[in-house]
This record gives sequence, C-alpha cells and structure tokens, in this order.
Amino acid sequence: MKGDKAHLRTRIAKSGMDYKGYNIAVHEMGHNVEQTISLYMVDNYMMQGVPNTAFTEALAFIFQKRDLFLLGKKDNDPNKEALAALDQFWMSYEIMGVSLVDMSVWKWLYENPDATTEQLKEKVIGTAKDVWNKYYAGVFGIKDCPLLAIYSHMIDNPLYLPNYPVGHLIDFQIDEYLKGKNFADEIVRIYSSGRMIPQLWMKNAVGSEISIKPILDATDKALAIVK
Ligand SMILES: [Zn+2]
Repeated sequence: MKGDKAHLRTRIAKSGMDYKGYNIAVHEMGHNVEQTISLYMVDNYMMQGVPNTAFTEALAFIFQKRDLFLLGKKDNDPNKEALAALDQFWMSYEIMGVSLVDMSVWKWLYENPDATTEQLKEKVIGTAKDVWNKYYAGVFGIKDCPLLAIYSHMIDNPLYLPNYPVGHLIDFQIDEYLKGKNFADEIVRIYSSGRMIPQLWMKNAVGSEISIKPILDATDKALAIVK
C-alpha cells in the first residue's frame, strides 16, 4: 500500500553475506523497484501493479544479472553476450520443465479432488518422469528421471512456476530493448504503465508482443560463436 515500506528479504549467514545471499538480494531489489514504480507512478490507482507475476519476475531477473556490475566488477569476456544468451536459454529450458509438471499436476488435482497424499505423490513423480522423457531424455541420454518433481512448493503455491519461464522471455526482450538506452528512464517508463492486458503492456514496453523467438534466435547466433 502507499506509504508502506517495501521489504527486501534474503539470507545472511552468521559469517556475513555470501555471494548467494547477495545475488538473491539483488533479485529481490528488482521486485522492490517494480513494486515502488508500479504503485506510485501509474496514472490511475485502480491500474496499479503489473499484468501478472511474470512481469515482476522479469525485472527481478534484469536486476539479478547485473549484480557484479553493481559491485563495480566488469566482465570483459568477448563471448559475454553469447554466453548470456545460452544461459538464458538454459534457464528457460530448465524451468519450463517444472512448470509443465506444475500445470499438469494441478489439472489432475482439479479432476481428482478426493486424491490422497499418496496418490498425489505418485502423480507428481509420474508426471515429472513423463515430462522428462518427452523433452529432456533425448538431450541427457537418461530415461525416467524424476528430477522435475523437485519443486515441492508447487503444491502450496499453485501455478506459480510458469511465471518464471514467461518472466525469462519478458526479461530477455526488455534487456535487448534496453541496449544503448538509459536504463532508469526506460524502466520507469515501462513499469509505470500499470496492470493492462499482458500483450498490450509488452507492446508498450518493447514494441512487440511476448515471444520465444528472440531467445531462440540469440541461442542460434551464440552457438555459432561458442563451441
Ligand atoms: Zn522473484
């Protein structure tokens, strides 16, 4: 609410903040900046916020990947951009798997409201293996891996996981758009547009709708550079 303070939460070990805690803190700071802009700078209070969670995750990712930059550390690797594209592709590929498990399990739960915890457990592990066999086994050369069942919070936080891959798509498109522009000016302009329908928000942000094509194109280009 207006007037309230934005809270940032991360883990700080007894010995002090380590890289993981710092990296998460920068991600969370992205959420705080989004919350502040989309609460105070949107024209109409009823339009405050972002279209959905994927859009706040996108800004958190945009901040998170600049964590070393914020510490004044420069990355002079000539393959930096190609590696970043591959990283983005890989993170999306990975989180899309658990998202598919999440959606499939919840569809099943709605169809089977009286399911027992044991049946749910079996369904989650079975679905994880199915998704793995369809989209991952060919790449990894291993069949029936249950790894995609790892996200237990998909049960207490229904249908949250798909926000991450969509957030990565949005993040990638905004980051491409930001190249050569003033970061702060553009972030304020983009995130002050409010809770409109997603594709309209995105068109206002970068001039085109949400799409996986930019990541796939960048991945193709990167693979020609990084062997
Ligand atoms: Zn987040």
